[in-house]
Amino acid sequence: MSHQVMHCVLLISLTLWQTFIVSGKIIDLSHKHGPTTFMVPGFNHYKRSNVTVTNRGNVRIEAGDYSSAEHGGTHLDAPVHFSENGVALDDLPIENTIADGVMIDVADEASRNIEYKVPLSKVQEWERKNGDIPQEAAVIFNFGWHKRFHDKKLYVNTESNDWKDLKFPSVSEEVGMYLYEKRNIKIIGTDTMSPDPPNSGNPIHVRYLPNNKLIVENLNATDLLPPKNFRFHAAPVRYVGASGAQVRAYAIIYETQRSGSNAIYLKWSLVLISAFIRVF
Ligand SMILES: [Zn+2]
Repeated sequence: MSHQVMHCVLLISLTLWQTFIVSGKIIDLSHKHGPTTFMVPGFNHYKRSNVTVTNRGNVRIEAGDYSSAEHGGTHLDAPVHFSENGVALDDLPIENTIADGVMIDVADEASRNIEYKVPLSKVQEWERKNGDIPQEAAVIFNFGWHKRFHDKKLYVNTESNDWKDLKFPSVSEEVGMYLYEKRNIKIIGTDTMSPDPPNSGNPIHVRYLPNNKLIVENLNATDLLPPKNFRFHAAPVRYVGASGAQVRAYAIIYETQRSGSNAIYLKWSLVLISAFIRVF
């Protein structure tokens, strides 16, 4: 390869390298999971028991047992939740729980209407501004509902333990099917107890889970996500046979750095490498 060609290749690769420099800011998307955490009617709260503390010399060792409903708190639904032959958590591929993220903000609409169902026009509006939702994405809806999670009456609009009385904003079936069929998304997530409207027959669960698309519910801090350019993570423990489990959901936000010390460093690298190539 001639020096001129090598020179060009180096310049191009260094320029590309610059555009791929990212900073990773982490957003914790999980609620604390405790004995008073909101649970849907009939599901058991987290319980810690059999706690022992032993002291060996100066070393204090604490350990305990725990139990919890699978579908409570910030958690992931496994395919077997809605499909007899579906995959349980122990056989869930880890890559299914990680995806490039998209956040659709519907907090304003939900604050005005507790039974708001995200219409297709809202997703189309997002796509006009940000481009098509990428294939195999995690699409996270921010209803602003995570701020109500501490209070059952605010979160599901009732103190009743009857499922029929629950009310919260949700994702329309039309949007669920659009994201499934046209955008082939991997994960749908919400800061409510379900993406499906209450008492709706769960059309999104029915379509997604048996086809190995995952659902993450009761997310926290979804309002801190940007519309795109983040990686969503929601891996559960590999509990054998489990239909779901709590996850420490989080996002890493990627930002391309175009200025600052890295950019200056790169410019000097380019100058030095150019000089080096000319000399030799
Ligand atoms: Zn669930």
